[in-house]
Amino acid sequence: MGTVMPVVFFGHGNPMNALQTNGYTESWRQFAQSIPRPKAILAISAHWYIPDTAVTGSPFPKTIHDFGGFPPALYNVTYPAPGSPELARKVQKLLAPLEVRFDEQRGLDHGTWSVLCHLFPDADIPVVQLSIDETMSPEFHYETGRLLQPLRDDGILIAGSGNLVHNLQAYAWGTENAQPFDWAVRFEQSARKLMLEGRDRELVDYRGMGSDARLSVPTPDHFLPLLYILGLRREHEQVSFPVEGIEGGSLSMLSVRIG
Ligand code: ZN
Repeated sequence: MGTVMPVVFFGHGNPMNALQTNGYTESWRQFAQSIPRPKAILAISAHWYIPDTAVTGSPFPKTIHDFGGFPPALYNVTYPAPGSPELARKVQKLLAPLEVRFDEQRGLDHGTWSVLCHLFPDADIPVVQLSIDETMSPEFHYETGRLLQPLRDDGILIAGSGNLVHNLQAYAWGTENAQPFDWAVRFEQSARKLMLEGRDRELVDYRGMGSDARLSVPTPDHFLPLLYILGLRREHEQVSFPVEGIEGGSLSMLSVRIG
């Protein structure tokens, strides 16, 4: 057996990270250097949260600037990585009998490119995105992740992109060094403990984790990519947190690495 590719969840945070060099982006770069060079990347981003499961099928996915109110420089960023219709087809097969729509129009959203531009700045590794079906349960997303297991043996990097704690209503805009909210710190701590102890079920049932969870995960979109990644953990695999930090009081930048 060859090397098993690690899997990773990134807290992507502010899209401006794409243009910056900071502690987070530096850790992302280091992560890329610490793994075997992937043959391709399958990204599961909070920003492709739609009513079905789909894969990007374009051989040349465009860069989507899916945000508003940022400086023009951010709209000029492109991440011209090729797609991989072949990998997209493979994902469809692995998830069958679930119907996975082959979407030849959709490009890469900022949850994907704002991180990958630091991991692989040459944009020379093919990227496919898998959507998150907003109509399905957390359990479904965890189980869907599990089905993607074989890709890890094929040199494919599976990367989730969201934020473990993501409450933009509480976010202190313009004061990124704001003191983290107690509930944000507590929820992140509890989640880390559950991950280290392999208690995935409790994270799948995060809505049962009380008011800290309600404040930290007011909508599921940024949390669910993590469940795909946890579903890919194999027995005895290490979990580590290569990137840490809470921005603006209510946005966890925690990254989770498995393997
Ligand atoms: Zn986001």
